[in-house]
Amino acid sequence: MSTLPIRTYGDPVLGAKTTEVEEIDARIAALAASMIETMVAAPGVGLAANQIGVQKRLFVYDKGEGPRVVVNPVILETSGEWLYEEGCLSVPGLSWPITRANAVHLKGFDLDGRELDVEATEFEGRIFQHEVDHLDGVLLIERLTEDQRKEAKKILRQRRLTFARDDRDGFHQLLGE
Ligand code: ZN
Repeated sequence: MSTLPIRTYGDPVLGAKTTEVEEIDARIAALAASMIETMVAAPGVGLAANQIGVQKRLFVYDKGEGPRVVVNPVILETSGEWLYEEGCLSVPGLSWPITRANAVHLKGFDLDGRELDVEATEFEGRIFQHEVDHLDGVLLIERLTEDQRKEAKKILRQRRLTFARDDRDGFHQLLGE
């Protein structure tokens, strides 16, 4: 197992919808283990497969009770509203108050192929919505209000310009610095 580089804003892999896992086999288990290690090292509370460049429909999360894996997640129902400060490992260093549903009914499978059926609220419900968004190719930027989104894009554009200036030959990027 090893940690993997987390793809960040601007990487096209984050904007593409993932495909369903057809068979939960040893390769998927190994992928999930690497994702957990990457999430823990980051540190973060959730990570979708496409955040490490793999276009498969699964995510890992830890709401404070140890890491868990959800394969082929689907949100069946949502209700209520909850405003909470939210960030993303793919948009490092930034966070915004975002309104999402408070309660979520999620179905999926664990690594043993057993069906999961979870009713989650607040923090856990938010993780589910955030990660399922990732798997559908949606970043939290798209959940911001228009004013927040304008401001966010300005900051992110500025960051990329600064990065391009400081790293003209792409050397640091190559070394993962
Ligand atoms: Zn995220």
